[in-house]
Amino acid sequence: MAGPIGICIHGGCGTLDKSLLTPAEWAETRAHLAASLRAAWAVLSKGGKALDAVEAAVVVMEDSPHFNAGHGAALTAASTHELDASIMDGATKGAGAVCTVKRIRNPIKAARAVMERSDCVLIAGDAADEFAKRQGLAIVENSYFTTQRRLDALASLKRRAESGTLRAASEAERHGTVGAVALDRAGNLAAATSTGGFNNKPVGRVGDTPIVGAGTYARNGVVAVSGTGQGEFFIRNAAAYDIAARMDYGKHEFKASVDALVFDVLKSHGIGAGFAAIDAKGQVYAPYNTLGMARGWIGDDGRLVVATHTEEFAEAA
Ligand code: ASP
Repeated sequence: MAGPIGICIHGGCGTLDKSLLTPAEWAETRAHLAASLRAAWAVLSKGGKALDAVEAAVVVMEDSPHFNAGHGAALTAASTHELDASIMDGATKGAGAVCTVKRIRNPIKAARAVMERSDCVLIAGDAADEFAKRQGLAIVENSYFTTQRRLDALASLKRRAESGTLRAASEAERHGTVGAVALDRAGNLAAATSTGGFNNKPVGRVGDTPIVGAGTYARNGVVAVSGTGQGEFFIRNAAAYDIAARMDYGKHEFKASVDALVFDVLKSHGIGAGFAAIDAKGQVYAPYNTLGMARGWIGDDGRLVVATHTEEFAEAA
């Protein structure tokens, strides 16, 4: 018998203060979240695979300038872009990832290609760009990823670094990420995450996003999660895997397991953190401990919800 389906996404927990964008810009951000959800829903509602759904959802957010992934990604201290992404299939525990890539238009597609068309889990840097090119994926100039908003954020962070006020920088100035998790009719879970990392990050820095078990994890029968927040702490806490372990071995409840990471384990380091999560029954959950987190979901009831701060906007899928 066909089971429930669901999709849950995030566009990073580094959401700007409401006053910093116009209502039209917020509306466009929400429209892009809705488009991401619909891309996934088109797959899931026809009986398609969770893996295809999460990839489709992430591609839409990578192509949007509103999120820190693909076009609109954060800049390194050298004013370049180095992107990270990973994808995981909860059915097989297959996973693929790329890190510090500079020319792949949609890094999530490269992560999927690593999973399905190589013997590796993670390919880095120029070699990953070359791999993607050989796989026929779209290749762009590094400047394709640049937007004015990220240039402004980089300039502001450099000023703060000089004046010693870096700790006061907002979450939004610093980071963001996109991610998607899904459950398909066959009961398969999948997770995908893509990011530009941190504004002003050192060249060569790799965060949690391409590290399976840190920023991304999926296990059938248990949970699929995609994280956002300062990746160093997600890596040190094996954060995404920890949620699955709490549920699988500890038999902890779904939402309590995600909350434990967001409001306790990660928060204890004084960092902003959030997750998009879905369990094996199709329950969706997207908690965060910052000012806001771009997010959305469609559960089995077919109701589409998007939000950037506390207010949630619902419509039919
Ligand atoms: N997790 C990302 C990283 O550390 C950044 C973020 O989600 O804000 O690269």
